[in-house]
Amino acid sequence: MENRAFHDIAQEIYQLIAELYPICRSITGNGLRKTLKTLQQHIPLSVHEVPTGTEVFDWTVPKEWNIQDACIKNSQGEKIVDFANSNLHVVNYSVPVHQKLSLAELKPHLFTLPDRPDWIPYRTSYYKETWGFCLTHEQYLQLEDDEYEVFIDSSLEPGHLTYGEYFIPGKIQDEVLISCHACHPSLCNDNLSGIAIAVFLAKHLSQITPYYSYRFLFIPGTIGSITWLALNEAKVAQIKHGLVLTCLGDAGNFTYKKSRRGNTEIDEIVSYVLKNSAQDYKIIDFFPYGYDERQYCSPGFNLAVGCFMRSPHGSFPEYHTSADNLNFVQPAYLADSFAKCTSILHILDNNQTYLNKNPKCEPQLGKRGLYRSVGGQKDSGLNEMAILWVLNLSDGNYTLLDIAQRSGMTFDEIKTAADKLLAHDLLELKF
Ligand code: ZN
Repeated sequence: MENRAFHDIAQEIYQLIAELYPICRSITGNGLRKTLKTLQQHIPLSVHEVPTGTEVFDWTVPKEWNIQDACIKNSQGEKIVDFANSNLHVVNYSVPVHQKLSLAELKPHLFTLPDRPDWIPYRTSYYKETWGFCLTHEQYLQLEDDEYEVFIDSSLEPGHLTYGEYFIPGKIQDEVLISCHACHPSLCNDNLSGIAIAVFLAKHLSQITPYYSYRFLFIPGTIGSITWLALNEAKVAQIKHGLVLTCLGDAGNFTYKKSRRGNTEIDEIVSYVLKNSAQDYKIIDFFPYGYDERQYCSPGFNLAVGCFMRSPHGSFPEYHTSADNLNFVQPAYLADSFAKCTSILHILDNNQTYLNKNPKCEPQLGKRGLYRSVGGQKDSGLNEMAILWVLNLSDGNYTLLDIAQRSGMTFDEIKTAADKLLAHDLLELKF
């Protein structure tokens, strides 16, 4: 990507993250809806509402959670913890509460990080009805024996699980799935980076007609992918490749977690792009924890879906704390991640296998203008070695990426050569 384009996309991705950052998201509710509405200013995604109580495989769509306000007041009536300052202050999915209690009674409902005394932890309680507050350890140490008033103006009632979906039809019906979770409140790397990059990838793909059809999902983690898979089981067979995108804005090196199958085309392509990036990176095998790849790669589906990240969840101290903020993610890292994703999808979308229509000895290239007519001439605009590699390896057993790897040439050199040979009717697509 040239400098100007890199700078522009970096700013656009970062701006979207900054816009989404203040919203209090959860696995259901108005924060998630508002997030999807914001994304609709960029891409025409459709918003789906699945009622509470819907059975989705072994799970049930939960009650919908919404929150207006929350605080802890001391006996002087001073707010010592205030949801208005950070939505991380309330345990996500806290039931409503309004009562007075002693410090000893309050303490079991408080969560802090003693070794990071100025950070607020992120805690959830989706499947157990309780309430709680998260605060900095510094705030916690200042609490004196007093009578406290806790107030959480939330609701947990039958409603809906909301998710966003954007389908871009390609030249064929086979699909590529791009999935990201959109259920975390003010956390930038873990959730907003994946969302924002997915949005700009979708924008980019909608401006071309891709070979594959592309399905983008913006869903609450775990319950969202389970719900989508349960309600769309008939579509699953169309998904041939996929990526879960998350944690793509921090300074760490790239990490790719392979699909459960481990040897699929998407695994090969991501490895190739990272290997040729001149950056350090890590490729890790599938394990049944992490993000929604757990569901896409469950044995009943076993899809070719990997997870593309910079620093993996849990590996950086800022993970699930207030320090995963707008300083922790930076435009240049986001744009670098975006560029890697576009390279991966460009190769995936163009990684055809061809058949040489003239396989008995080399075709005479000179008479077709595919070989320089005067020996020793440079800058003819033809990459003859690439043409010879494509002709030689197009026996139906090698993709263009295989040919690039074997020849040591770039994917685009090989692809350009294949396009020339196609135009001269020397190749045909293998179906
Ligand atoms: Zn998370």
